[in-house]
Amino acid sequence: MKGTRVPMITRLTAMLFLLSGISSAGMVDYFTDNGYGNPVAVIQHPCAEYYNRVTYIAYQGPHEDPYVCAYDHAAKKWSGPVQAGENPMGKTPDPVDPKGPDNHGRPAMIVDGNGYIHLVFGGHGGYFRLGKNTLGAAGNGKQTHVVSKNPQDISAWEVLDNISPFGTYSQFVKMDDGDIYLFYRHGSHQSDWVYQKSTDNCRTFSPPVSVLKHKTQQSDPNIHDAWYAWFENGKGDTITASYVYHLCRTNGHTRERYNGYYMKMNCGDESWENAGGNKLVLPVTKEYADQNTLVCDTYTAKEKSNHGTCRVDDDGNPHLFFRRQGQVHYFRWLGNAWQKPVAVPGGDGDMIVESPKVVRMLLTGGGEVCWWRTTDGGLTWAKGSCLISSPDSTYTASTLVRNAHPDGRMVVNENNPAQNHLYRKLYLLGDSGPIGRPEEEASNLGDRLKDLESVQPASKPGKPVKKGRNKLGEEIDSDE
Ligand code: ZN
Repeated sequence: MKGTRVPMITRLTAMLFLLSGISSAGMVDYFTDNGYGNPVAVIQHPCAEYYNRVTYIAYQGPHEDPYVCAYDHAAKKWSGPVQAGENPMGKTPDPVDPKGPDNHGRPAMIVDGNGYIHLVFGGHGGYFRLGKNTLGAAGNGKQTHVVSKNPQDISAWEVLDNISPFGTYSQFVKMDDGDIYLFYRHGSHQSDWVYQKSTDNCRTFSPPVSVLKHKTQQSDPNIHDAWYAWFENGKGDTITASYVYHLCRTNGHTRERYNGYYMKMNCGDESWENAGGNKLVLPVTKEYADQNTLVCDTYTAKEKSNHGTCRVDDDGNPHLFFRRQGQVHYFRWLGNAWQKPVAVPGGDGDMIVESPKVVRMLLTGGGEVCWWRTTDGGLTWAKGSCLISSPDSTYTASTLVRNAHPDGRMVVNENNPAQNHLYRKLYLLGDSGPIGRPEEEASNLGDRLKDLESVQPASKPGKPVKKGRNKLGEEIDSDE
């Protein structure tokens, strides 16, 4: 089953099965084919959660709208996709060129303490008409919050107008006591990273609190200090932040991102400290971060760096990775210093910390998604089993499913360079490979491909993705 496709049975055989009442129609490895653009990513997270025997999955579908599927592990049955809201940045018809979709508005998802499912999506900093953004710069879209009308039921949704519209890269962190934090960047590149806290299952939120400060550099007014950050549960009542620096040039913009940083919040009094336990003063500026929270300096060597994920061991010590030069660079805190980085082959993914010395990473790379494991605290890594592989396609990772069932660890989307449109198959990968679905249930494109026949791609299939820019000069396809 691993990495293989179940061959489609012929139509005639399927008809015979139907006529005889046997429900073994053709099974496929994907659960839907209507992911669109870049449907999932590591930065908007989690996008899936296992809750009370069911894995709920949110992703970007047609028109960049948020869609939800669910898999009941006990009944072995899929449901959905159901459209859960409308992304104001969606275009009609769906562009077929990779630079067409904005992609920043893909959903993050959390199940609250009462079983209601929440999605936040649709934002890339917020349209100008939404008013003044006091914590950053305007952008596109509107950060939007929807909730399922009933607990553990994906069939109907409603908007809750209770968060800032100036958000992108939305991320949920749910604590053991039920408090839920929503972290995000409060605008386009030149904006603070903030959180809003809810103590009533996302029915109300506190006003935004700045964590990472954006500002113009004193020595060069064309350069703006900006950030890409990733937030997650730490040990107990703490939240970790791992982040990279974005050197944002107002004129002559580039994707320059450097270094790696780490800190954590004590949720009890919302105070922050660095890995060594020294209290920090928030929000953090570039100079302050360099002095107090630096994990690795890549700027001196002008080597680019991008965020990864961060998980903690039973001692509360962080294990994290940053992405550099097509590999992930793993670090862990030794109690008094960061262990020297070790490069592991892989594009992106997430990790499970079993103990301070035993860590597993589930990483995309080439045309496969595979486990890597260390038993010596990250000094050496061995490749393990692959949960899916393909000779033709690559895969894009999301973070690990929250509270994952072993049969459903991670959602990935497939990228097939031979296809001339941007719809993507989505897979739920577990220890036995993808959880399959009858083909007629997984086929959700309807007439969309036919509708696109008249739309010619500007980029030929297989051609490298071109960079596009919106009116503000932001790279609209650099959603990562
Ligand atoms: Zn920038």
